[in-house]
Amino acid sequence: MGDQQQFEKIISHAKEYGFVFPSSDIYGGLAAVYDYGQNGVELRNNLRRFWYLSMTRLHQNIVGLDSAIFMHPKVWKASGHVDGFNDPMIDNKDSKKRYRADVLIEEHQEKLRQKIQKEVVKAAKRFGDSFDEQQYRDTNPRVKGYQDRIDHMDQVLKDGLETGELHKIKELIEAEEIACPISGSKNWTEVRQFNLMYSTQMNATDGQDANLYLRPETAQGIFVNYLNVQKTGRMKLPFGIAQTGKAFRNEIVARQFIMRMKEFEQMEMQFFCKPGTEKEWYEHWKAWRMKWHETLGTQSEKLRYHDHVKLAHYANAAVDIEYDFPFGFKEVEGIHSRTDFDLKQHEEFSGKKLRYFDAESNESYVPYVVETSIGLDRLFLMTLSEAYTEENVNGDNRTVLKLHPAIAPIQCAILPLVKKDGLPELAEKIYQDLRFDFNVFIEDKDSIGKRYRRMDALGTPFCVTVDHDSLTNGDVTLRYRDSMEQERISIEKLAEIIRNQTSMNNLLKSL
Ligand code: ATP
Repeated sequence: MGDQQQFEKIISHAKEYGFVFPSSDIYGGLAAVYDYGQNGVELRNNLRRFWYLSMTRLHQNIVGLDSAIFMHPKVWKASGHVDGFNDPMIDNKDSKKRYRADVLIEEHQEKLRQKIQKEVVKAAKRFGDSFDEQQYRDTNPRVKGYQDRIDHMDQVLKDGLETGELHKIKELIEAEEIACPISGSKNWTEVRQFNLMYSTQMNATDGQDANLYLRPETAQGIFVNYLNVQKTGRMKLPFGIAQTGKAFRNEIVARQFIMRMKEFEQMEMQFFCKPGTEKEWYEHWKAWRMKWHETLGTQSEKLRYHDHVKLAHYANAAVDIEYDFPFGFKEVEGIHSRTDFDLKQHEEFSGKKLRYFDAESNESYVPYVVETSIGLDRLFLMTLSEAYTEENVNGDNRTVLKLHPAIAPIQCAILPLVKKDGLPELAEKIYQDLRFDFNVFIEDKDSIGKRYRRMDALGTPFCVTVDHDSLTNGDVTLRYRDSMEQERISIEKLAEIIRNQTSMNNLLKSL
């Protein structure tokens, strides 16, 4: 069950502590576009780096790529995005709000599911040990009625989208009496398809303006470079290409903070393999990606797989990794077995052969592809949601981000106890020594307690307090974020202790 209040707290924390700001904030913001502040950029860079290193350094057969955002317009024709990357939209005539028709229906279905759940809980209480939930669901007329409606909606939605008979989706919305959440009215426009790609122009050499798209995914940049990388890198199947980069989608209903943005970043890896081996690799990447999330410290009970029942026409297997956000389980990453669809399409549209010559079997073929695709911003939101903790410490509240030390924005804060007697100077010297290895922060304002709390709120795993004794015996107090334990440590040992805990190498080694 979701917790809206918790979500609101995370959003305000993100703004208050310099993680995420609305874009163009002083102009009132821009819907579904966000900027990352001084701490957000560090956390986000660390997440990206961990992903990139874990893909490339830990796999001899995976290499990186950084393809351009602009691509030849034919790419998007070949990929199917020009014709098929649509969402069905509907407007409420009274509130003038625009919705995704499928989302309106899915939310309505969710309400019915909740009603079913309530009935089931009531019945379980009434029948006690003899309760057979499946039998109850199959036979209770009210529950069955709800379930039949849910199934009917699935069917109409699927048919309507597949055949393009969008009036059927509108009729369904009317028949189910779905109302606009803002105006409460059922006064709807027709349902129309809305392409999610942003377009722009580039001056073509012949003087004609060419229509271009801002890429809606990074994957196509990998497909069109498949042969370049394979040939120049002398890559043998199976091998992968990994890249991170911006993608743009004109989402109709952009909401839930950085969950669904119009400009966001993806981290995708396309793994090229021999046809017939793709299921094996799909299972491999499915398991490996889950382990990756757990290694970063996400509790396994808050992660789950969600198999796609309705597969895209080009896929022969697909699964999402979902996280239990404060607003419920939602997709963070997709793992898709995409067959040879994309490469074959590009062969056809470009007229260039994209074959692999397999020296072992002495044959040429178009490789199959298994992809892992994760949104960096969703990963960021998941990480923040997982780390955000409110604690009561001896009657005092503290908010702490329990981030894995290797991805924390600041690894260590140096805090002179007072602003005099040479303590700031010693703190500065420690700062100067540590800054080459870590992101270090130095601060001498406010009481030490306040400064500790501020560092907790940023997720800083270590605070180093410099006091008068430090001047004579070369010791400082090292405070641990999570346990709040403190110990005296010689200044010389600081770097080693911090490195042991914050090193991304250790995180990579545990994968
Ligand atoms: P959704 O069903 O939530 O729209 P999707 O299935 O369209 O997502 P993919 O096309 O598979 O998503 O993209 C891969 C990943 O990119 C997603 O798992 C998600 O983490 C991220 N992503 C997709 N769209 C957005 C967006 N608008 N804002 C932020 N991240 C996104």
